[in-house]
Amino acid sequence: MKKEFCKLKEKLEKDIKLSRDDIKLIMNIVRKQMNFMIKNNIVITPKNYERWFYVFCNIIENNKELNDLEILGLFKEIYDAPYDEIKEKAGEDVEIKQKGMVKKLVRIADIIEQKLSEVINTLDSHNNSIDSHKNEIVQDEELITDEKTKNILKKILDELEMLRRENEFLTNELRKYHADVVRLQGELMTARTEAEIDFLTGLVNRRRFERALLEMINDYQNRGYPFALIYLDIDNFKSINDKYGHPSGDQVLKEIALILKTFLRANNIAARVGGEEFAILVPGATAKEGEIVAERLRNVIAQRTFSTLEDEIRVTASFGVTGVRTDDTIDTIFARVDKAMYDAKNSGKNRVVVVE
Ligand code: GH3
Ligand code: MG
Ligand code: MG
Repeated sequence: MKKEFCKLKEKLEKDIKLSRDDIKLIMNIVRKQMNFMIKNNIVITPKNYERWFYVFCNIIENNKELNDLEILGLFKEIYDAPYDEIKEKAGEDVEIKQKGMVKKLVRIADIIEQKLSEVINTLDSHNNSIDSHKNEIVQDEELITDEKTKNILKKILDELEMLRRENEFLTNELRKYHADVVRLQGELMTARTEAEIDFLTGLVNRRRFERALLEMINDYQNRGYPFALIYLDIDNFKSINDKYGHPSGDQVLKEIALILKTFLRANNIAARVGGEEFAILVPGATAKEGEIVAERLRNVIAQRTFSTLEDEIRVTASFGVTGVRTDDTIDTIFARVDKAMYDAKNSGKNRVVVVE
C-alpha cells in the first residue's frame, strides 16, 4: 500500500493526537464501511475490517464518488487479494457470526445513544443550576456596598459565566455526536434490511431477484429481449428436516445452491426466494429453452447423493418454467411459474412442467 494512500493511517500508527476533524473522519469511514460490508455480505473478521477501513479512508479523504463495483475494484487494486478473506476454523458457521455481529453493532449504537442522551440531560440540568446560582449572586450583588466583596463576587460571576459557556459548547458538541449516532443506528437497520445476499446459500435473495426480474421484464417490453423463469421447490423437504435435523436441512440447501452456481451459465441469475424454494432467470431464452435448463438441473439434483450430518441421502425437486409475455408484471409471471411448479408437484414431483 502506498504511503499517502490513507493519511489517517499514519496518524493512527504513530499514535499522533487526533483532532476533532480526525474523529469525525473516523466516524464517517466506519459508518460507510460498515454499511458496505453488511450490504455486500463481507464477513466482519478483524482482517477484513482493517483492510476495508483503509479503502474507505482513501475514498473519503479523496472525495471519490464510486459505485459498489468500483469500490470492489479499488480493493482489488490495493490488496490484490479476495475482498472477503475468511480465515475461520472449518465448520464454524460464518453466516451466523455475521448476523450476530450486525446485531451487536446495533446494540452498541443503542447503548451509545442512550449514554449520550443521559449526558446531554445532565449537562442541561447543570446549565440550569448555574443560571439560577448566577441570578442569586446578581441579586446579592445589589445589596453589597463593600468594593472588595463586590470585586470578588464579580469574579465569581465571570467564572460562572465562563463555565456556563463551556458547558453549552460541550452540550452542542455532544448533540452533534448524538445526531450522528442516531443516524448510524438508522443506517445499520437499513443495511440489515437492504442486504441482497442470502446468508445461508450465498445466492441473491428475493428482493434482489425481483429487481433483476423487473429489469428483464422492462427489457422485453422495450427491446423484445426475452427470458425464461424457472422456479423450483425441493420435494418433501420437511421430512428431511424431521428425519435428519435442521442443520442437515441447511446443508442440503447449501448444496442445491452450489449445484445452481456450478451448472448455470454466468449470466443466469439464481436466487433463494423462500425457505426451500429457488428461482432462476435465463436471459435470452424461450420457455422451451428454459425447460432444457430445468431438466438438466432436475437430473443433476436427482442423481446426486447429499451428505447430511449422519447419512447420505437422495433429494429431488419439482420445477415450473415459463417464458416472459408482453403484458407481464412480476406478479403475473411469478403466479404462472408457481402454478406450473404446483402442477409438477401434483403430477408426482421430481419433474418439470412448462407453461409457454
Ligand atoms: P413438498 O414436496 O410439497 O414441497 O413438501 P415439503 O415438505 O418440501 O414442503 P413444506 O412447504 O411442507 O415444507 C417446507 C419446509 O422447509 C418447512 C420448513 O421447516 C423448511 N424450511 C424452510 N426454511 C428452511 C431453512 O432455512 N432451513 C431448513 N433446514 N429448513 C427450512
Ligand atoms: Mg415450499
Ligand atoms: Mg418443498
